[in-house]
Amino acid sequence: MDMNTIEAVVATADPNEWHEGDAWLAGGTVLFSYGSVVLRRLLDISSAGWPAITTTAGGIELAATATIAELYDLPAREGVLEEWPALELVRTCCDSFVASFKIWNMSTVGGNICTALPAGPMISLCAALDGTATILSPGGGVRELPVADLVVGDGCTALLPGELLRSIALPAASLRARTAFRRLSLSNLGRSGVLLIGRLDADGALVLTVTASTKRPVQLRFGGQSFDGQGTLGGRPDRSALAGALDAAIPEGLYHDDIHGLPRWRRDMTYRLAEEIRAELLGELSDEPLGGAPSRGGKKP
Ligand SMILES: Cc1cc2nc3c(=O)[nH]c(=O)nc-3n(C[C@H](O)[C@H](O)[C@H](O)COP(=O)(O)OP(=O)(O)OC[C@H]3O[C@@H](n4cnc5c(N)ncnc54)[C@H](O)[C@@H]3O)c2cc1C
Repeated sequence: MDMNTIEAVVATADPNEWHEGDAWLAGGTVLFSYGSVVLRRLLDISSAGWPAITTTAGGIELAATATIAELYDLPAREGVLEEWPALELVRTCCDSFVASFKIWNMSTVGGNICTALPAGPMISLCAALDGTATILSPGGGVRELPVADLVVGDGCTALLPGELLRSIALPAASLRARTAFRRLSLSNLGRSGVLLIGRLDADGALVLTVTASTKRPVQLRFGGQSFDGQGTLGGRPDRSALAGALDAAIPEGLYHDDIHGLPRWRRDMTYRLAEEIRAELLGELSDEPLGGAPSRGGKKP
């Protein structure tokens, strides 16, 4: 799409150069699809030179400019899946981004997170692994925020004007965890309507991350130590404890409503897939009947 209001494209990743009317340009697959009638400059971060993926003993750092195609290749690196089995999620999450190789070669991890669509698969991946975003601010500040808290609503982030997402750190403790992935879409090649990821950490914590069905990521933590020092929900949940925790964490209005799924369907499938994940990770047979959410007011939704 032509963007007729653009006066300049500037190659920079310096938040001090950001002014009102500017937008950070990464892969451009959103900016050039949706267009804009207000933007005046695009600040192109694609030539910032940030290494796409850096592995250290402490985990993995994904540059915001890492493309979906570069990320997809990560699990093929020798030995990484053995060391960090949770990287199996990388390909399932990339595959949830139903687009051609042309889009995968341009779209970036940071652009996906900052676009903040409920069906943003990089949000699902990074939130589920307790990824921490490093954010550069105008004036030279640097701050960190869990990815799960960076996305605050449909198309909304906690980024302040001019702030730039620099990278996402995925901690080794999460990468070593056992994981379970569930995704539903209304059609074969459709956008995610429900995407849940479970993680069983070495300390016994069970972490469930709900995305796509909700307007922003929702995380439930049972047992173990939470990564940010916040409280957890007690020991390993049974089916009804899990359903109760979902009830408490996701009010009706938080379920997303668009062409990719009605809120009642998303809610129902969230409970069903959450129970499947709970049973899989805790090594139990699920006693969940077909259907999902417990009825409200005695009526099956
Ligand atoms: C065919 C097709 C299918 C798609 N399917 C999906 C899908 O299933 N799920 C989904 O979520 N999206 C989907 N998209 C949308 C889009 O491609 C992705 O969200 C992509 O990851 C955006 O990345 P980008 O680098 O192209 O972002 P850009 O277009 O460059 O930027 C998007 C927005 O993020 C901001 N931004 C980018 N990088 C940063 C940064 N580092 N710091 C701060 N702000 C930044 C930009 O200013 C802009 O507002 C699809 C697009 C197409 C064309």
